[in-house]
Amino acid sequence: MSTLLKEKLQDAEQTVLFGKRLSKACELATCIYLHGDLGAGKTTLTRGFIQGLGHQGNVKSPTYTLVEPYELADWQVYHFDLYRLSDPEELEFMGIRDYFGDSSHCLVEWPERGIGFLPPPDLDLTLTYIDDQREVTLQANTEIGLRVLKNL
Ligand code: ADP
Ligand code: MG
Repeated sequence: MSTLLKEKLQDAEQTVLFGKRLSKACELATCIYLHGDLGAGKTTLTRGFIQGLGHQGNVKSPTYTLVEPYELADWQVYHFDLYRLSDPEELEFMGIRDYFGDSSHCLVEWPERGIGFLPPPDLDLTLTYIDDQREVTLQANTEIGLRVLKNL
């Protein structure tokens, strides 16, 4: 099977729905790197992912806190936004390793800022602009990632 999946997302609602679908396809703890320019829809998709696992409230961008934790019925989800990380070593002081356990999904915006201190991703997810719409590309890097693509 292919390690790559591409889909057109016509509006923000479809981005949210894709995030929900993705969350339900993750049977095992999954690490997802989110790529794409500012405004591409990384946070919007993450909102869908977290709501897909039962979260009712708001999902705000952790731009200033670096990470926002969600305790859900079956999973913990950690939403990282490393845009404002000045030194990747800060992740070491945050105890980054504790976040990546067997009962947590991690979604990381701007992972390139944490290089050397983040575990490698099961999936690389990229959002690109197509006029005023978006396209999502998923690349599986591990057995866990492949399984997610198969489940989607
Ligand atoms: P990022 O986290 O990548 O910086 P956000 O999710 O914060 O981006 O913002 C994305 C913006 O684009 C929001 O205004 C959202 O409504 C919009 N958006 C999300 N998905 C789509 C889509 N598929 N088509 C058009 N607009 C979208
Ligand atoms: Mg964002």
